[in-house]
Formats: sequence, structure tokens, C-alpha cells
Amino acid sequence: MSRDTISKAFPSPRHDHRACVDAALVQAEAVCADRGLRLTPLRRRVFELVWQSHQPVTAYALLEQLVRDGHRAQAPTVYRSLEFLLECGLVHRVESLNAFVGCNQPSSGHDVGIFICRVCGDVAELAETAISRSIERGADRIGFTVESRVVEVSGTCRACADASR
Ligand SMILES: [Zn+2]
Ligand SMILES: [Zn+2]
Ligand SMILES: [Zn+2]
Repeated sequence: MSRDTISKAFPSPRHDHRACVDAALVQAEAVCADRGLRLTPLRRRVFELVWQSHQPVTAYALLEQLVRDGHRAQAPTVYRSLEFLLECGLVHRVESLNAFVGCNQPSSGHDVGIFICRVCGDVAELAETAISRSIERGADRIGFTVESRVVEVSGTCRACADASR
């Protein structure tokens, strides 16, 4: 795996996060344009809020922030925006935290491993086709129809592991 893939997965705590947000917005615009969909101002704002850090954010926290922004948003509005972003593959739901995180490679449809650092709360995703292949094999054996192949793994990111040494 290239250094670039690794550094993209868990960016250093001192990285320029504005650049991550800008890149994510450019990708989001491209994904929507490709599919003839519109990134409305509200969807865009929800997307930006999901991307405010590399930590998953709950729908409730998003709603609170929108209200603080002066939006008259209500829970269903936020859920609809999140549904849209999920369908476009622009964000992922982190089931174990019931929260959402921005996708850093939305243009490639992917089965992913989501790695959650229990120390800093950051989340990274890696497209791991080997994981989905073995899920498929196991499912085949027991006659199970797979809907989601996202595996969530909790542990410690490199920066946090280094800091605790
Ligand atoms: Zn960042
Ligand atoms: Zn992704
Ligand atoms: Zn960490």
C-alpha cells in the first residue's frame, strides 16, 4: 500500500483540514453532476458539517448546528439530506456509533473497512476487497444474502499509538 493511501487514511492531527473539506466539496459536486443530481445549498451545508472533522457526527448534532446557523431545519430535513448523501456514496453511516462520516473516495464504488480510533475518535476507511470476498464466501456457505459489506474495526490510530508511547 502506498504511503499516500496510508496518510490519506488517518491524516496527521496537524494537517490542513480546510484542504480536505475543499477536496471533498469538489468531489461531491463532480459526483452530483455525473448523476444529474443537485447538491442543493442545504445538502451542501450538511455535507460540509459532516466533513468538519474526520470524526463521525450524529444526525442530532447536525441538526443542532443547522439550527445554530439560523436554518429552520427539522430532523426529517436532515435525514433526507443524509439519505441523499448516503445514496450518492458521499458519506458513510458508521453503524456502531450511529453517526456519519465523509467518504474520501466517493467516485469509486466500494466495499470498505471503517477503522475507528477509540482515542481521538477519528475514522478512516480503506477499500478492502479481500474483506468483502471472504464475507461473500462465508455468506455463500450458509445461504445468506448480503446487503452490506462494511466492516467496522475499532482500535488506535498511528498518531495516538505514537503519542502514548
Ligand atoms: Zn482533514
Ligand atoms: Zn467511502
Ligand atoms: Zn487516534
